[in-house]
Amino acid sequence: MTYNLAEKTWPMIEEYLKSKKSIIIPVGSTEQHGPNGLIGIDYMSSWEIAKKVGERTKTLVSPPLCFGMALHHMAFPGTMSLTPLTYVAVLTELFQSLAKHGFRHFTVINGHGGNIPSLNAAFSQVLNGEQDYQFKLINWWHLPEVGVYEKEHFGDANGFHATCGEVSVTMHTHQEAYKEVPTNFKFAPTVREYPWPMSPQQFRTTFSDGRMGSDPSLATAAHGEKIFNIAVDAICQKIGS
Ligand SMILES: [Zn+2]
Repeated sequence: MTYNLAEKTWPMIEEYLKSKKSIIIPVGSTEQHGPNGLIGIDYMSSWEIAKKVGERTKTLVSPPLCFGMALHHMAFPGTMSLTPLTYVAVLTELFQSLAKHGFRHFTVINGHGGNIPSLNAAFSQVLNGEQDYQFKLINWWHLPEVGVYEKEHFGDANGFHATCGEVSVTMHTHQEAYKEVPTNFKFAPTVREYPWPMSPQQFRTTFSDGRMGSDPSLATAAHGEKIFNIAVDAICQKIGS
């Protein structure tokens, strides 16, 4: 049975709300992910993980918010970003829409580090004066269980952006798309010390092919399947059924 909100009718949502006030909201970004990572990695990963967690915990899952705060990636073609204030406004209004119908427990599964400040700001906006709202922010790639696996299999080469872990997860979930991605890239060492925040041009000059400290030639669909399952298990434990 699907727990995808978009595949329900409004009477089905009304019925669900009689016994449960929880919803999972997957968020990510549409941004460059190095020479061999898909541009949609951050929302594809959180969306696929969220759908599985929804099925396992019998919790509704909203459509993914595919766009986030990715201004620092704008010097790479294909990136689509919101500015922080716009992103906070979009998140706030989406949370408020759900709250209006009676949802009270919001679990956001996030796939992009640049979204975190805006997500926290939007939570504060919505929580303002409300006693019974609960927000949980789960940055799936920060889960300790995921970190243990990545450390063991990729070490420092996992990096910070276009990581082996996130490329692997989407190699597992989007195998067809990766068949068209050229594999003949040479991955030179990337810098590990850098100022932050960076302008788009600074970012491109510092990380010329888009990676930050990672060697995604180590990524495989088999690793991706393991990391995907580890993340799903850990999140299910966190949110319960
Ligand atoms: Zn990413």
